[in-house]
Order: sequence, then structure tokens, then C-alpha cells
Amino acid sequence: SLYHPPDISKPCYVRVNTLRLDVDSALQEFEKQFLVQKDDLLPDLLILPPHTDLHNHHLIANGSVFIQGKASSMVGAALDPRPGWDVLDACAAPGNKTVHLAALMGGKGRILACELNKQRVNRLKDTIMLSGATNIEVLLGDFLSLDPKDRSFSKVRAILLDPSCSGSGTASQRLDHLLPSHSAEFVDAERLNRLAAFQKKALSHAFSFPAVERIVYSTCSVNQIENEDVVYSVLPLAASFGFRLATPFAQWYRRGFPTFEGSEHLLRTDPVEDKEGFFIALFVKQGAANSAEE
Ligand code: SAM
Repeated sequence: SLYHPPDISKPCYVRVNTLRLDVDSALQEFEKQFLVQKDDLLPDLLILPPHTDLHNHHLIANGSVFIQGKASSMVGAALDPRPGWDVLDACAAPGNKTVHLAALMGGKGRILACELNKQRVNRLKDTIMLSGATNIEVLLGDFLSLDPKDRSFSKVRAILLDPSCSGSGTASQRLDHLLPSHSAEFVDAERLNRLAAFQKKALSHAFSFPAVERIVYSTCSVNQIENEDVVYSVLPLAASFGFRLATPFAQWYRRGFPTFEGSEHLLRTDPVEDKEGFFIALFVKQGAANSAEE
């Protein structure tokens, strides 16, 4: 018989869209066909065997379940928005995290989803439609030019900032590096510097919204320059607005690179062992009512 190498691939994660279906019903439905279990960290996440083909599955087609990785699903959960809040998703398309926020808020409250790119706004609208969320307002424009003093932002209590990044923590980007035509290193350095400059500006802008008390900064990059370095550079400004770093998922063992005192608050996921390389920083305003992450 043919030799089959051991399957070392990672499981397939799906997030139940609790706006449409409860987790136990989704579990029962998948159990008819697959070996499935609940994730031990995120209550709305299910784990299916590697290579499970779900593309034609009715729960995916009708928006009851989204194919969304664990690392990506940790971002919205780290922000922990409450039902009834005003929440701003600063860089929203294609909207996977936007609709996760809507589900975490039980469909109650108001989500403002800002996106600069016109084509990507259409994808964002499709995702919102599929999710069934009815409390998301799409803003086509530049997050950096949103005026924090504008009345429509006066009650924004949480901001998710998931800006453009190099994507170096995701599989497709990692495979790119195997291609012979890969661009010269200095071009990469220039691109990373440009991205980091935007990321710092965007994160700095987030602090200036008057009612904001929780800010999550996330990337799907493994580069320190887009992650720890961005966070470190804004710490004085954050402090001037009364923000400090909090610890999302304190039980998670993989933290920020130890580049500064406090980097242990930061969260990393490993591109191989955790399937995707993500980075999460959580800023909480001192004195804000709910700081379970002290
Ligand atoms: N959070 C999204 C999700 O989970 O589906 C992914 C966001 S993606 C990493 C970053 C997005 O930010 C892109 O769609 C990009 O077009 C958008 N973007 C880049 N610069 C922006 C800006 N200045 N204002 C608003 N959106 C911006």
C-alpha cells in the first residue's frame, strides 16, 4: 500500500454567528457529518478536522457560520464590546471582525464600520448582509480624517483598529516568500516602514475619541516593526489620554516579544503552531468600569 505521511495540518476553525444560530445547534448540525468540538478559549468557535470542506455547507451559505480562524476571532473577543455600546471599526473590510463584534453585542448597540477602499466597501456590505446584523453603519472614507469631535462619534466606547499590514503572519504571504521573484529586501523594508508609519498614526488617532475606553490594535503580521514597535511608540500619548496596556487572554502563553517593559501584556499567535501569526494589543482607559484584564 502507498505510504501516507502523517497529517500535521491544523484543524479547521469556524465561528458560529450567534446572530443567526446558537452554538449548540450549530454543533449538533455539524455532528451529523463531522467530528466537531468546542474551542476551549472562545465560546463561539468550533473545531473541525483539518481539510474539512465547508464551502458548500448550508450553514456557511446562509451566514449561520463563518470560516474564521482562532487568532482572527480572538481580536473581537479581546475588545469585548458590550450590548448597547457605540463601537467603531476603523479599518473594517471585508468585515469578518465587524460582524463578530455585532454578534458579541447581541445585535444591540451601534457599530460604525469605516473603510477607505470603495471596492472593499462592497465586500464589507456583503459580509454584513450575510451576517444578518442590522446595527452596522458603513462609512466610506479615511479613518484618519474622521473628526473625533463629530457628534456621531461622541458615544464611541470601543475602537477596533485592524489596519492594513504586511500580512506576513498569514499562510499565503508566507508562501510568497518561496517564490523566486520575491522582491529585494530593501523594498520590503521600505514597505514595512510605510505601513508602520500609518499604523502609528491610526493608533494615535484612536486615543482622541472623547468617550473611548477600550481600543484593540491588531495585525496579521509577525514583524516587530508593525507590532511591538508601533505600540511602544504610542505609549506616552496613550498615557496622556489615561490609557494603559491591559492583558487580553491572560491564560494565553504566547505574549509580545520582550522589547520593552510591559510587552508581556501584548498577545501573539504563532504562524505555524497557531495556524496564523496575529498580534493583539489592548488599551484600556484607567477608571473605565470594566477592566477584567487587570
Ligand atoms: N478587520 C477586517 C476583517 O477582519 O475583515 C480586515 C481589515 S484589513 C487588515 C485593513 C483594511 O483597512 C483594508 O480593507 C484597507 O482597505 C483598510 N484601510 C486602509 N487604510 C485605511 C484608512 N486610512 N481608513 C480606513 N480604512 C483603511
